[in-house]
Amino acid sequence: MIPDLSISSVITTSVCPVRFFLSQNSRNSESPRYTVAKQISYHLGKESDTEEIWDEISLIQKDNNPGLREFFDECIRICHTNTGWRRYSDSDVNVHSSKYHIHGIVDKLFDDEPFFSITRASQAPLSGIYSSDRLRIAAYSVCLEEMLTAEIEGGCIEYIPSGMIRFCRVEPIDKRRFLRALHETRRIKNGQLPRRPMRPPCEKCPEQWRCGPDEGIRLSDLL
Ligand code: SF4
Repeated sequence: MIPDLSISSVITTSVCPVRFFLSQNSRNSESPRYTVAKQISYHLGKESDTEEIWDEISLIQKDNNPGLREFFDECIRICHTNTGWRRYSDSDVNVHSSKYHIHGIVDKLFDDEPFFSITRASQAPLSGIYSSDRLRIAAYSVCLEEMLTAEIEGGCIEYIPSGMIRFCRVEPIDKRRFLRALHETRRIKNGQLPRRPMRPPCEKCPEQWRCGPDEGIRLSDLL
């Protein structure tokens, strides 16, 4: 039987296979900024009390330092300048593909097109969509097409710190990248060594302390 892979693991591999390899046994806790973005996102498109949202964040996230409150206030301010937020029909929906053996959680589902959206805690790029977000949309579209037996053209990305929604239409290149990352993730899971990308994004890598931007993966990590 082929074991299921999480969509997030496939995305990590697409960024850097070495990072996925090193992070397999790490415990990933939710980042405070992501908690802020998620809670704000739930309330978009309806009347909400700002302090009520902050109380929810304080309940979920213990690491709510003064800088986080500033980030929250700025996100609230910028999101209120956008009137295009839609009310969702369901949130945090488990999705799965039996064909590709992947699973994940879609942030929001809607009754009409675009049928789903994901929430990001990062600023939107100056134009377009980050390639890792394109991959996320491609992977969730694969799952939803199978589950709903409907054609899913793409999904939306909510860039909460920018107060923006961007639609991502899944293109053939996104599907090719998704398949490549999926196969690489399986290869590593099956005990093969990860391949270091040509230009790995080491600057903000959480695994840098045991990998290092210059030397890449150390022999001791592989044994
Ligand atoms: S430090 Fe660079 S090479 Fe090492 S895991 Fe991170 S992104 Fe990959």
